[in-house]
Amino acid sequence: METLQHWINGSLVAGSGDRKGDVFNPATGDVQRSVAYASVGDVDDAVATAKKAAGTWGNASLAQRTRVLFAYRELVNRHKDDIARMLTLEHGKVFSDAQGEVQRGLEVIEFACGLAHLLKGEISENVSTEVDSYSLRQPVGVCAGITPFNFPAMVPMWMYPMAIACGNTFVLKPSERDPSVTNFSAELLQKAGLPDGVFNVVHGDKVAVDRLLEHPDVGAVSFVGSTPIARYIYETGTRNGKRVQALGGAKNHMVVLPDADMDLAADAAVGAGYGSAGERCMAISVLVAVGGAADKLLPKIRERIADLNVGNGLDPASQMGPLITKVHLDRVAGYVAKGVEEGAELLVDGRTLKVPGHERGFFLGPTLLDRVRPEMSCYQDEIFGPVLGVARAATYDEAIAMIHAHRYANGTAIFTNDGGAARKFQHDIQVGMVGINVPIPVPMAYYSFGGWKQSLFGDLHIYGPDGIRFYTRNKVVINRWPDPRFRGVDLGFPQNK
Ligand code: NAD
Repeated sequence: METLQHWINGSLVAGSGDRKGDVFNPATGDVQRSVAYASVGDVDDAVATAKKAAGTWGNASLAQRTRVLFAYRELVNRHKDDIARMLTLEHGKVFSDAQGEVQRGLEVIEFACGLAHLLKGEISENVSTEVDSYSLRQPVGVCAGITPFNFPAMVPMWMYPMAIACGNTFVLKPSERDPSVTNFSAELLQKAGLPDGVFNVVHGDKVAVDRLLEHPDVGAVSFVGSTPIARYIYETGTRNGKRVQALGGAKNHMVVLPDADMDLAADAAVGAGYGSAGERCMAISVLVAVGGAADKLLPKIRERIADLNVGNGLDPASQMGPLITKVHLDRVAGYVAKGVEEGAELLVDGRTLKVPGHERGFFLGPTLLDRVRPEMSCYQDEIFGPVLGVARAATYDEAIAMIHAHRYANGTAIFTNDGGAARKFQHDIQVGMVGINVPIPVPMAYYSFGGWKQSLFGDLHIYGPDGIRFYTRNKVVINRWPDPRFRGVDLGFPQNK
């Protein structure tokens, strides 16, 4: 069986570690290949390579860097379907959803193609008599990325195109569950003309991550994954003197006011709750029905669930695929059982689903829990599966209070036809990304993505303008050309004249 290797200095490298992990096809339950787990020495090799390359790439002209990014954009676009197929085979999401993932990653690459404009500094003439001052944005050096299983192409693309455009070199530690697409990205970057050593991949687990977090030559760490690990990455990385942005988990609430278009809201709830089998950090996992909204909405949601087709993601008829692993499937099913025990009403039970011909696949059907209350574990915890909980709130204020009491604050949405209520919501709500009649408000590449509270540790959001700030250091220069009028020793603090 094939073992996926690391990518260091422009070549595949077996590495010195003897540990590896299985990569499954979640639709069939079969192991497709294994992936090498990096040792401390492998990570050191990747960082040393990246450090060496940083010397030249950091000084490459904007024109050279732009040409590589444009060429890479063309290659990713040409291979969009090849990449999407890899995603479906290892992650399980349906092919059309995988195509969407590649498209959203591509948009960040396109944004990074504008680096010549994005990296402009500022200049002030005559800050003092015949003195000018200006700022420069310079690369950090070696940057590391650690990414989750649920968007194996897009989430790394939130990071490395931005870091590389800014003149940094990169070491990526992708999820060990669906790692193949990362090696393909490395090959495409090489074909696009990226010098060897600028982009490196180490596969593996905590051993590789911990070495990246403590390595003295890593300057910045971007992380996307679950909240306990995000907190650990942030605390460990910053303790070791690195700048860190660590995006964590979510529990996204969708508020439906009684005046909303209930068909639109039902379409949105089903799409955002069960798309990608609920394994999206922007998935809607709690629907907060205000006033009498639940009674109108629930029959419409149940009708739509009954029509959903769950199966192998490569089958064009499938709308929802399997979960990532058997362990995760059991965990999600456990939350459904616990929810019922705690008093939630199980309206649709996805645990009974059988997909013919895929009996060993990690499938769980769309599940609907009603009368979910804040003290229940199915409300408190991120389930990360196709489980939509419906909570009821008597008033708008009660709905907002529920959202504010939750520890996660990644995304949220409101469905209403009342412009005033929508405007009040966008102002009041303490959440990083907000949709108004839009259930999954993922910001465009030219904004930045990030949640609040325990959905993000660090100060800057990812990609977009914040990405440029994260991957560069600011330098301010004050410049005076010698003039005989200003000679003479002066021990006073410089004053502007
Ligand atoms: P995860 O936290 O288990 O893993 C993320 C990465 O961390 C992987 O590369 C993994 O190998 C590594 N890792 C895991 N355990 C570690 C440990 N103990 N020490 C060091 N490194 C470790 O997350 P996942 O299951 O791959 O992804 C799902 C999670 O990611 C969900 O919580 C989801 O909400 C979150 N997510 C968040 C966003 C966002 O933008 N906020 C986006 C996508 C996914």
